[in-house]
Amino acid sequence: MRLLLQPDETAKRRRNKQRGRPRRERGATMLTRDRVMNVLQGIDDPEMPISIIELGIVDDVRIETRTDGDAVHVRLLPTFVGCPALDLLREMVEERLRASGAQAVHVEFVFDPPWSVSRISQAGRERLERFGIAVPQRGGQGGGASTCQAASRPALVPLSRSGGEDAGALYEAQESEPVRCPLCGSEQTTLHSPFGPTRCRSIHYCADCRNAFERMKDV
Ligand SMILES: [Zn+2]
Repeated sequence: MRLLLQPDETAKRRRNKQRGRPRRERGATMLTRDRVMNVLQGIDDPEMPISIIELGIVDDVRIETRTDGDAVHVRLLPTFVGCPALDLLREMVEERLRASGAQAVHVEFVFDPPWSVSRISQAGRERLERFGIAVPQRGGQGGGASTCQAASRPALVPLSRSGGEDAGALYEAQESEPVRCPLCGSEQTTLHSPFGPTRCRSIHYCADCRNAFERMKDV
């Protein structure tokens, strides 16, 4: 069952494709931190329809002034270990910063401090909700990004029900807070599958508007 998930995914890819063709700007040899942050603000996370700045994965930016041009060091906090999108993310950051005048770009992934949903900016939360992705108010307590699966899988209790086409996919989650439907605001929702299109998202079902939606896991 794909439900609502497909259109957003393709739209996101199309947008990323467009953004992946940066205009090369001549003459901007001096890179400032503001300029670098602006460039990063324009890069969407490969798996999330928001900027990597809004997602809170940019931990540190350092500009090293060299005689042959500026080198930019970017420290990123992946949302979880082993994310298959990390290579893509590195390429995007390198490509975009080079196009903006960096002579060299060094992207480093660190896991300390751990990324958590509490790092997502308010603008990022609102943008995700408009895409139909619910975001927990705060992250798990120090769970961190070690792995999305281990740190955040809620306690699942299979629902006892008679019949049904996909009984194995139905669970009831012991969530730390009510899960609000991003489409209609109702809290009459149930966890449909702990495994969404990416490992950091789960799929929920709203009993009121009868839509499925995604939710970022509570890390
Ligand atoms: Zn709803």
